Amino acid sequence: MLGLMQDHPLLISSLLEFAEHHHGDGQIVSRRVEGDIHRYTWADVARRARQVANALDADGAAFSDRIATLAWNGYRHLEMYYGVSGSGRVLHTINPRLHPDQIAWIANHAEDSMLAFDLSFLPLVQAVHARCPNVRKWIALCDADKLPQDSGVPNLVSYEAWMGQQSTDYTWPTFDENSASSMCYTSGTTGNPKAALYSHRSSVLHAYAAALPDVMCLSARDSVLPVVPMFHVNAWGIPYSAAMVGCKLVFPGPALDGKSVYELIESEKVSFAAGVPTVWQMMLGHMKPGGLRFSTLKRTVIGGSACPPAMIRAFQDDYGVEVLHAWGMTEMSPLGTLCTLKNKHMEMSPEDRLAIRLKQGRAIFGVDMKIVDGDGQELPWDGKAYGDLHVKGPWVVREYFKGEGGDPLVNGWFPTGDVATIDADGFLQITDRSKDVIKSGGEWISSIDIENIAVAHPGIAMAACIGVHHPKWDERPILVAVKRPGAEVTREELLKFYEGKTAKWQIPDDIVFADAIPLGATGKILKTKLRETLKDYKLPGL
Ligand code: ADP
Repeated sequence: MLGLMQDHPLLISSLLEFAEHHHGDGQIVSRRVEGDIHRYTWADVARRARQVANALDADGAAFSDRIATLAWNGYRHLEMYYGVSGSGRVLHTINPRLHPDQIAWIANHAEDSMLAFDLSFLPLVQAVHARCPNVRKWIALCDADKLPQDSGVPNLVSYEAWMGQQSTDYTWPTFDENSASSMCYTSGTTGNPKAALYSHRSSVLHAYAAALPDVMCLSARDSVLPVVPMFHVNAWGIPYSAAMVGCKLVFPGPALDGKSVYELIESEKVSFAAGVPTVWQMMLGHMKPGGLRFSTLKRTVIGGSACPPAMIRAFQDDYGVEVLHAWGMTEMSPLGTLCTLKNKHMEMSPEDRLAIRLKQGRAIFGVDMKIVDGDGQELPWDGKAYGDLHVKGPWVVREYFKGEGGDPLVNGWFPTGDVATIDADGFLQITDRSKDVIKSGGEWISSIDIENIAVAHPGIAMAACIGVHHPKWDERPILVAVKRPGAEVTREELLKFYEGKTAKWQIPDDIVFADAIPLGATGKILKTKLRETLKDYKLPGL
């Protein structure tokens, strides 16, 4: 017997319709590429997203056509999110930090038929347009009078001229909720990038989950700043969850330096912010010397790479801001776990509570996870056994776009490529990417643990731990460290700093000071590059 409830597909357009009807005057604030601050409301987003849909119809864009963006977080990008997906096309967000060759490859692989870009990325578009024959229209996200002349880019229009003339009347179509809504290529460091192809159903379910109290706890009372980019994994789904709860949204545009982000948080009374550790590092670096404080910021979700304990402590102890440590990936839309305490933890001492909050957290309803050994046997949840982390759920990939890379699943589970422990309360702790873990004398050393200790040293700004070949132990860890400006710290001092903080055999064999550590397109340390740079490095004494 089937249930007798109405059957409405879960569609992204319904999120925007809800925001318009129930939170029409809710604010959307954007720092624009032009430098000024733009303000309007959810009702305006809805009106202009309908114009985008009409413009796509006028251009003959077919259902499921890929429409790409190369854009910062801002109101026009938000209109594209809803106008493109809501009308049944697929929004393909491209990461502008990728190399032009990769961007051209991705745009061709996705068969993008139009591409909208912020003017900051005009040089990129100029570099790739000739290699993207499929793209029949290039849309500059700007006013008609700002459209660059003599750019050399064919079929170039300004966004405002393209959609501004269109009717604001449009009825969002109804279709199968399993239809593709958006796509994002993983910034794979080996082989060709592979695309996760999200559906309306997966995106709406993820939006519900992301807003839950034990996840981002989003509400109509919040002022939300996604520093995490809309060009990678849909800014962790915030553009969708924000419409679902009707919160105020604040977009930083291209200004991601500590000063600009801090000022926006203060001026727009931001209560909740989301970003990767490197962004917050820059902001705390800006705040500390001037003794600056937050007046409204309450919570921040940090993920994308391991959040150093020192950062969680600084936010909590120095600024009274709760850090929610999160783990996820492109293939998971991206949220998998988020760290919030349980009722039984409330009586614990602040130090014990903090020890739990340093982990990547508990699974969100909708995400099933397990850790397995090399033979695929499930390992216990005791907080000690570590193994390959596998996940499944309605917003986890089943297959990559165009079947790239074959069947990624193992008995229905997606292997994340991460190594983790899970404790008896279900708290996940990421030990490493499986390719970064250091295998020394049959034991595993977590590069994340070694890096976290280093960045807790007041003289160290950034650190990366990699394994180098050792004739006896197979691999030994070394640490590449960047000093804070003006800091005096020696190799011996830093090695001594490890004593008592980790097992002796896990202490790096050497410290290599560097001016900078290479970062990838999503702000993560590029260990492949680092290993390449250090390929002639020899361990001391060998
Ligand atoms: P890309 O696909 O571009 O590498 P993703 O954004 O999909 O980037 O990155 C996913 C990976 O990032 C995870 O598999 C994990 O290794 C790492 N990661 C994400 N969040 C955390 C975290 N909180 N702690 C440790 N590693 C993390």
